[in-house]
Amino acid sequence: MVHTLICPTCGATNEQTRTHCFACGQFLTIGQGLPEAVRQNRTSGFALAGFVLGLCNLILGLIPFYGLIPAAVGIILSCCGLGSVSRRGLAIAGLILSCLAVVMTLCSCALWSNMTYPG
Ligand SMILES: [Zn+2]
Repeated sequence: MVHTLICPTCGATNEQTRTHCFACGQFLTIGQGLPEAVRQNRTSGFALAGFVLGLCNLILGLIPFYGLIPAAVGIILSCCGLGSVSRRGLAIAGLILSCLAVVMTLCSCALWSNMTYPG
């Protein structure tokens, strides 16, 4: 595995051999940048959050219109979590659940408008 340095200023990934960030020019020293493991933990957090929110969305998706908000957040979190190696499956599951929630919300919107304006 190639060791990388994450620029503490802009977050760009630099080769460990670099002394300056290629993106912003920030001086890099060994050990100064965030190790890859820390970045992985962050994306894993997004993956887990996306999955949990996806599960909640199965209930929240029953709420017409407003159910779209947590569903959109769930999709964004899951997409961020796709960068995670260890929890990629969770991120994908969260993405599917949130997409399902969008469909459910749209269906409940249709039902709701039928009930409110019958015929
Ligand atoms: Zn930088």
